[in-house]
Amino acid sequence: MCRGGRRKPLRTVRKKEDPQRKQNRELARQRITRRVEYFAPLVGVTYNRIFIKEQKTRWGSCSSLGNLNFNWKLILLNEELLDYVVVHELAHRKQMNHSPTFWAEVERVLPDYRERRRRLKECRV
Ligand SMILES: [Zn+2]
Repeated sequence: MCRGGRRKPLRTVRKKEDPQRKQNRELARQRITRRVEYFAPLVGVTYNRIFIKEQKTRWGSCSSLGNLNFNWKLILLNEELLDYVVVHELAHRKQMNHSPTFWAEVERVLPDYRERRRRLKECRV
């Protein structure tokens, strides 16, 4: 459970996609898409498609094709943490690594990214 989260965590996921989960993913798609649209010009990148997934171990990822993958559970976190993951993945459109150049890119858009990153590490996926 995430200490920084405003919302209560949902119950453990079931195997079959139930209406509640579908609704969560749809809500996640809307919220995450909105933040990606907001931050992409600030980072100065374009992207291909946004996928909402249920990854077991990660909040997000970025493919070499420019597709952005996000864990729907991001919507259970504070918006600042969601924004950090969005900016992190968008910055990978410029740097497909975690080099100092990459982090400088993240910092340019989110000067307090270190604090957000630290808080996110306390959150279980
Ligand atoms: Zn990364």
